[in-house]
Amino acid sequence: MEQKKRIMSGMRPTGKLHLGHYMGVISNWINLQNEYDCYFSVADWHALTTGYDKTEQLKENVLNVVIDWLACGIDPKKATIFVQSTIPEIAELNIYLGMVTPQNWVERDPTLKDMAKILKNKEGQNSQIGFGLMGYPVLMSADIMAVNAHYVPVGIDQVAHVELTRDMVRRFNNIYHTDYFIEPQPKLNKCSLLCGVDGAKMGKSFNNDIKISDDEETTQKRIMQCITDRSRARKDDPGHPDKCEVAFKYWQIFGTEDELKNVEEECKAGKRGCADCKRQLAVKVNEYFKDIRDKRKYYENHLEEVKLILDEGTEKSRAISKKVLEDVRNIIGMY
Ligand code: ATP
Ligand code: MG
Repeated sequence: MEQKKRIMSGMRPTGKLHLGHYMGVISNWINLQNEYDCYFSVADWHALTTGYDKTEQLKENVLNVVIDWLACGIDPKKATIFVQSTIPEIAELNIYLGMVTPQNWVERDPTLKDMAKILKNKEGQNSQIGFGLMGYPVLMSADIMAVNAHYVPVGIDQVAHVELTRDMVRRFNNIYHTDYFIEPQPKLNKCSLLCGVDGAKMGKSFNNDIKISDDEETTQKRIMQCITDRSRARKDDPGHPDKCEVAFKYWQIFGTEDELKNVEEECKAGKRGCADCKRQLAVKVNEYFKDIRDKRKYYENHLEEVKLILDEGTEKSRAISKKVLEDVRNIIGMY
C-alpha cells in the first residue's frame, strides 16, 4: 500500500480560537484528515515569542485550543494532535536549521511587522523584538521538517513561512548533499483570510475576533460592531455590498446562495438597513456554530479525555521526530 502523504500545521495557544481559524484552516484540516497522515501541533513555543512574560494561562490555553479543534471535528483517530514543547527533537532541529539560515532570510519575514504590532499593543512604544521572535520562521520550519511533511494547510498570512521552509529545505539538502527533506507546499482553503469586525485580519491578539466558543449574545454584540458600507448615511439610502467592508463578506461565507442574492438586492435597493442586516447575520452565524459549541461543552467537562488524546498524539508524533533527528544527526555528521 502506498504511504499516505504527511500534513503538518499548528496554532498558537494565545487564546481561544476564532472564526478565522475555522474558516481559514480548521475546516480544511477536517477534510484533509481523511486522506492524509495529519499532525496538528499546539505551538506553545511560538506563543512564548510574544507572550514569554505572561504564562499564567498558557496551560489552560493549550487545552482550549485542543478543545476547539475536537469540537470542530478534528478526529484523534484520524489525526495526531500534540503539544510542540513536548517534542524536544523540534528544538534540536531548530538549532541545526539556525546554523544554515542566513540572517537576512529571517529579517525580511513579512509577518514580523504583525508580530511587532502585537508586542507594541502589549508593551508600548519601547517594545523590543526578542531573539526568539526573530527566529520564529526557523522554528516553524523545524515544526514542519520534524515530521518531513509534504503539505502545510495554513491561512494566507503564513504562506511566506512555508516558502521560507522550502528555501531552507533546499539549502539544507544542498549543503549536506542529500535529498532527505521534502519541499513542503502550502495548502490554502477557499477562504484563506477572514477579516475581523474592524476589517483587519481577524486575530486572537487584535481584539477584533469572534470566538468559536462565544455564546450567542456575545456573537450578536460582536457582529453588530462589524463595519459596513461607510458611505451610507441613512438606512434607506441605496447600499453598496461591494463596499461593505465586513458584513457582506460574512454573508458570502455564512449565507446560502439565495440569501446572499436577497441581501445584495435589498441592500442595493435601500430596503435593508445595516443594523437589521447584521442582526440577521448574527442568527446565521449562531446557527452555523450551534453544534460545535454544544460539542465544545462536552470536552470542557471531560478534560481527562482531552489530556489522554494529547498524550497519545505526543507519543506518535515524537516517534517520528526522533527518527528524523537520528537521520539528521547522521547526515550532518554529529558525534
Ligand atoms: P495571534 O494573533 O496570537 O497570532 P492568530 O489569530 O493569528 O493569533 P495563529 O495561531 O497565529 O492565530 O494562527 C494559526 C493559523 O490560523 C495559521 O495557519 C493562520 O494562518 C491561521 N489564521 C489566523 N487568523 C486567520 C484569519 N483571520 N483568517 C484565516 N486564517 C487565519
Ligand atoms: Mg498569528
